[in-house]
Amino acid sequence: MAMAVTSLYPLTAGPISTNYAAYSQSSCPVSLALRSSLFRCRIPGSFSAKKLRLPRPESAPSMKRLKAVSASASHHSFDVVVVGAGIIGLSIARQFLLESDLSIAVVDRAVPCSGATGAGQGYLWMAHKTPGSDTWELAVRSRKLWETLANSLNDQGLNPLDILGWMNTGSLVVGSSSEDTIKLQERVNQLMEAGVRAEFLSSRELEQKEPALFVQEESGAAFLPGDCQLDAHKAVAYIEKVNREFISQGRYGEFYNNPVMSLLRAYDKGEVEAVQTLKCTLHCKKAIVIAAGCWSGCLMNDLFCESDISVDIPVKPRKGHLLVLGNFDSVQLNHGLMEFGYMNHQNLLSNPTSSVMNGQELSVSMTATMDSMGNLVLGSSRQIAGYNTEVDETIIDFIWKRAADFFPKLRETSISKLRKSRKVRVGLRPYMPDGRPAIAPVPGSNVFLAAGHEGSGLSLALGTAEMVVDMVLGKPLQEHGDACKIERQKQPFVLPGKRISY
Ligand SMILES: Cc1cc2nc3c(=O)[nH]c(=O)nc-3n(C[C@H](O)[C@H](O)[C@H](O)COP(=O)(O)OP(=O)(O)OC[C@H]3O[C@@H](n4cnc5c(N)ncnc54)[C@H](O)[C@@H]3O)c2cc1C
Repeated sequence: MAMAVTSLYPLTAGPISTNYAAYSQSSCPVSLALRSSLFRCRIPGSFSAKKLRLPRPESAPSMKRLKAVSASASHHSFDVVVVGAGIIGLSIARQFLLESDLSIAVVDRAVPCSGATGAGQGYLWMAHKTPGSDTWELAVRSRKLWETLANSLNDQGLNPLDILGWMNTGSLVVGSSSEDTIKLQERVNQLMEAGVRAEFLSSRELEQKEPALFVQEESGAAFLPGDCQLDAHKAVAYIEKVNREFISQGRYGEFYNNPVMSLLRAYDKGEVEAVQTLKCTLHCKKAIVIAAGCWSGCLMNDLFCESDISVDIPVKPRKGHLLVLGNFDSVQLNHGLMEFGYMNHQNLLSNPTSSVMNGQELSVSMTATMDSMGNLVLGSSRQIAGYNTEVDETIIDFIWKRAADFFPKLRETSISKLRKSRKVRVGLRPYMPDGRPAIAPVPGSNVFLAAGHEGSGLSLALGTAEMVVDMVLGKPLQEHGDACKIERQKQPFVLPGKRISY
């Protein structure tokens, strides 16, 4: 899906100052007292105008070709520049456009869905989320926002299935041992106490609900009838369409195939005033939001590398494969399914289906959904394997075999025979070691970060967008509703790592 570089937004009226400096070692340092709104403390530091450094080639291979920015690059001006056109960045842009009168630019080094978003299976489930965990309230809020969106499409006479690939399938987390089922029973109680509709299914009930599934005496499942799913590509296309409706008002611009290279600030001010991309300069009057998925860590390092704000976001790419089978009638599903072991995916090696392959931790847990086009979608793998997105046939075999443990009908077909009718999706989940996305302002700057959603970025996108917009607009906490209020009091979404030099 190659798209031409688009610069849909006309140059804004009014003068644009070009008195910006790339971070340059030779420039005089400007001492600032950085105030962290997040930690509510004053942070002494000096913010120097320093030299632009390009992203490190080994961590972002496709950026190797980047050279110095052309002096004739065009200039555009917006209130907010969002870096990254994955589900997180596009949702943030949409939220700004709908909830404020600010103008927004979205810039991506490639095109939407070229990152993790394009590989997403699309379940927006509460089944594998833990009540009371750091991300629980965000998940609840986000899910509510997705439902509100689907309902509003219905109210407009549009079909959410067509527009978003929206399906109210319900979800089943399947346990195959008595140990699993005891834990699933506890999980169901916990979810019910948290106000989520959930029920525990015995092996017999499970068999009736999902006839294609191999069910043993000791099997059982957590069933969440309210869980739903969407199609990531359709959802992204819809959000882009909504965003583009603001072009005619001069409030939206897309800059695709246009990697961000540095942040620029005026000599006499600490705030970032522009984003330098390969092809243009995007001036930002209010804020910059970095939503570059698994690339956010190295991008932030490079953007802040020689300033005294030391940002260390330990986000890593966690490679995932999904197998998509078209016209495959042997297995039909009534619900979305995942195996119990999936819930341990944060710590790969604690997962019973994990192994070490070529020195890399690998885990394959069964997930199975039917998408809105009737394809059977089987997942999924997790690997820390750098930024490589090539299909690995060994992993496809693992996924197939693991799925066959749950759907014996699959054993009647060899995966190699399905080569023509299958598709494989590979994406790099933005993995955070502590399992929490980083949604926060960079202390002492007008830069905000929204990254690290690992396997839940589709689910958490709308809640994340709401949080970011409220943070940028400086809305009081209570306007976040209870969900974000509680979370932010506990400060779960701080920037992990060394954050900032004190
Ligand atoms: C196999 C698989 C299955 C999944 N299933 C689900 C699921 O069922 N449900 C769910 O909720 N989540 C799921 N996820 C997770 C979800 O897809 C991710 O959490 C989510 O897509 C992350 O979105 P993002 O916008 O942060 O990142 P991305 O989609 O990766 O977007 C980041 C963007 O930043 C751009 N970028 C990078 N560097 C630069 C730069 N220097 N300049 C400009 N742009 C830059 C990239 O080109 C990219 O487009 C799955 C992921 C995988 C891999």
